[in-house]
Amino acid sequence: MTVEELIAWLDKYQATIEANKANLSEMDTVIGDGDHGNNMARGMDAVKESLAQNPPADLVAGLKAVAMSLISKVGGASGPLYGTAFLEMGKAAKNDATFPEMIQAGADGIAKRGGAAIGNKTMLDVWIPVAKDLAANTLTADKIDRYVEATKPLQATKGRASYLGERSIGHIDPGAASSGMLFKDLLTVWGS
Ligand code: ADP
Ligand code: MG
Ligand code: MG
Repeated sequence: MTVEELIAWLDKYQATIEANKANLSEMDTVIGDGDHGNNMARGMDAVKESLAQNPPADLVAGLKAVAMSLISKVGGASGPLYGTAFLEMGKAAKNDATFPEMIQAGADGIAKRGGAAIGNKTMLDVWIPVAKDLAANTLTADKIDRYVEATKPLQATKGRASYLGERSIGHIDPGAASSGMLFKDLLTVWGS
């Protein structure tokens, strides 16, 4: 991935989040505190502004700038988690990782930071299979939709939704939904 592709990807994602802000916050109202869309919108506005005002020289610098914007501007669990993912992607890029390896490093960073694993009904339920599909070059928009949908029957055991216990069952995880949007936007700018 080039820095130009990174910027195109995240500019697109900023617009996607803006368009889905209410929808994501509504999902979070059902099993959380109703702020996920607003949190992500604040973060992606900051990302877009930072990339426009201080154009990064290369991919590594770009990923780091994205991470810093997300960590500093997003209140709530999702900011540090997405921020850590981009920070780890930047470190991987610095070590000449391939793009699938970068996304895997991002997923590993989220797991380490949040102490969650696959099946806990979090954004990781999208990041982990997407990283695997990217490595196998088999990622499609349909598969991403299925990973997001597959969080519905799960009971949350990490994050705020876990406070609901069994009542978290039957609803899509908002962080999985926003992650699905991130990777569907990736497919449109980067091919598959
Ligand atoms: P908050 O829960 O602090 O209000 P958000 O609403 O912005 O933050 O984000 C909630 C999302 O964060 C959840 O839907 C879930 O996907 C993700 N999340 C929460 N805790 C964890 C964790 N420990 N590991 C991975 N993802 C998590
Ligand atoms: Mg929330
Ligand atoms: Mg919150």
